[in-house]
Amino acid sequence: MANKDYYEMLGVSKTADEKEIKKAYRKLAMKYHPDKNPGDKEAEEKFKEINEAYEVLSDADKRKIYDQYGADAVNGQGGFGGAGGFGGFGGGAGGFEDIFDMFGDVFGGSGGFGGFGGGYTRRGPVRGADIRQNVTIDFMEAAFGKKISVKINRNEECDECHGSGCKPGTSKKTCSTCGGSGTIRDIKQTMFGNIATQRECPDCHGTGEKIETPCSKCKGKGYTRKTKTIEVDIPAGIDDGQIIRVSGQGEYGEKGAPRGDLLVVINVRPHDVFIRDGYDVYITIPVSIVQATLGDDIQVPTVDGDVKYTVPAGTQPGTVFRLKSKGIQHVNSSRRGDQYVKVDVQIPKKVTDKQADLLRQFAGDSKDGVAINNPKGNKKTFGQKVEDFFTK
Ligand SMILES: [Zn+2]
Ligand SMILES: [Zn+2]
Repeated sequence: MANKDYYEMLGVSKTADEKEIKKAYRKLAMKYHPDKNPGDKEAEEKFKEINEAYEVLSDADKRKIYDQYGADAVNGQGGFGGAGGFGGFGGGAGGFEDIFDMFGDVFGGSGGFGGFGGGYTRRGPVRGADIRQNVTIDFMEAAFGKKISVKINRNEECDECHGSGCKPGTSKKTCSTCGGSGTIRDIKQTMFGNIATQRECPDCHGTGEKIETPCSKCKGKGYTRKTKTIEVDIPAGIDDGQIIRVSGQGEYGEKGAPRGDLLVVINVRPHDVFIRDGYDVYITIPVSIVQATLGDDIQVPTVDGDVKYTVPAGTQPGTVFRLKSKGIQHVNSSRRGDQYVKVDVQIPKKVTDKQADLLRQFAGDSKDGVAINNPKGNKKTFGQKVEDFFTK
């Protein structure tokens, strides 16, 4: 299948930066959005294409892979035999959220609700909030998993009053404003008759109790701010941007409510030689012209260490070979991705006189590839022609 030119699809140059790409994408997305072109199949197709292009070009890693290996590599089609792929619209690939604010009215803007007033419900215990914490780990740590310690600041039960908020030895008293109900009833006279409404008691904030003598340590709140270290197991295969939810380790829940969760947002440092896309790993390996021509056993780095690979004779520059199951382990599974190795044939920048002679000899002998097929019967090889050019 033809390799798609994502840059052309978005109408940007190959050197366009993030901003230019985003701008071009927004403009085109506006133009071809299905809601703006109902029933127009061509616009729909175009919209899909620009989204596909944007998903790749807006992601630095995917763009790098695309630049080097083409669209098939990032889409998991064709030659590479089903590498991961990354879901269609709204699959958390970013980008699409950006467009929502532009289509606010199309996607059904805000509101229409509210304004019904109605009864006040006394607030029960509220579960604590979630805490988000970013953690940066190495490429290999992400590949193989690791136990890490995450430091967070969160509210802990006050150890002076054990959460009551009262000075030790004292206790809460029933709120005199609301009589312990936590709510205040108002009667309003309207043309439809008397209407009763309820609101939260402003004195006790709906608790029905008041602290007479607050705890001096927490000032009556019942909790204090503390730094906590939480051990978190990072599973092998985790990827950049993924989140680990540690339940019950979030913010303090007041009035005996459960804690929120701790959300550990994983950032993975890029590796010097490996590029990762999903569970597949990409690497470029330098190979000499002699190795590529005659074939050779080479050592290829993988996440497990070096493995031997036999480069077949006649390997062309840019050839990509696959090391099956040498990629990253899937999270919570023993399956593994693959590693793709691109051959970068190195042309020597300098040769000795002897090497130059040998190369000329090679050029003279060569019957395929190097020799130029001249229909006029001139049997001069390409090497000889170059020589002629410089000696004339
Ligand atoms: Zn206290
Ligand atoms: Zn009250």
